[in-house]
Amino acid sequence: MHIPPRVLTVAGSDSGGGAGIQADLKTMLALGVHGMSVLTAVTAQNSLGVQGAWDLPVEAVRAQYRSVVDDIGVQAVKTGMLSSAALVETVAELLATTDAPTVVDPVGVSKHGDALLASDALDSVRTRLLPVATVATPNLDEVAQLTGVHVTRPEDLPEAAGAVLALGPRWALIKGGHLEGEAVDLLTDGTEEHWLRAPRLDNRHTHGTGCTLASAVASHLALGHDVPAAVRAAKDYVTGAIAAGFPLGAGIGPVDHGW
Ligand code: PLP
Repeated sequence: MHIPPRVLTVAGSDSGGGAGIQADLKTMLALGVHGMSVLTAVTAQNSLGVQGAWDLPVEAVRAQYRSVVDDIGVQAVKTGMLSSAALVETVAELLATTDAPTVVDPVGVSKHGDALLASDALDSVRTRLLPVATVATPNLDEVAQLTGVHVTRPEDLPEAAGAVLALGPRWALIKGGHLEGEAVDLLTDGTEEHWLRAPRLDNRHTHGTGCTLASAVASHLALGHDVPAAVRAAKDYVTGAIAAGFPLGAGIGPVDHGW
């Protein structure tokens, strides 16, 4: 009997089904792993933005995590929207009890500019969460928020990666997708540098890109790839999902997991 590797997402719900837990579970299904979820927050959300957000109590997060990890077990974990300092600290504590690679997507603000992390939680992300990450996957806004390094050109990516690595993750994947021109990302552990390039796709329906990439990295780690191979495979997956992104509602549609 085939028993797939198990991957856990610790993240928020996007009622519109484009990002968050929903994007994570779709990615995991597409990549052939068993997806599980610890919900941290619920958002009322659609293609136009986030209309409301509610945190779950820390006890609910702790209980979900223990239920899943203590019985079913996990081969990789991904974290996304953690919303508050209390949730960041609770999740960091839980992750430290689990011996599985962890991909931390330090979610700050959505594409529509809605805050998904309280400003007073940044310090907990820096000092508690990033030190327990195997791979951290900040975009350039998150790099600026977390480290103060402002990237304007691909040449700035190594400095940004150095500043993120100084906060403690084993690897930093700096996503340069918000720069003009080619979509360039840099993955490094401070010793090796892997540059990942993809042509810029002319598609504005990119909701859920970051969640999808981080979940794909976690899924490939669970499938047994090392970090550079997992990140390359995840980048290919998200590039296909962005190319196939489709319009829904009046705003920004989701990436597609059925390509
Ligand atoms: N909603 C939730 C619950 C998320 O976790 C995220 C990103 O991590 C977003 C929305 C934002 O998605 P995007 O910036 O791709 O629109």
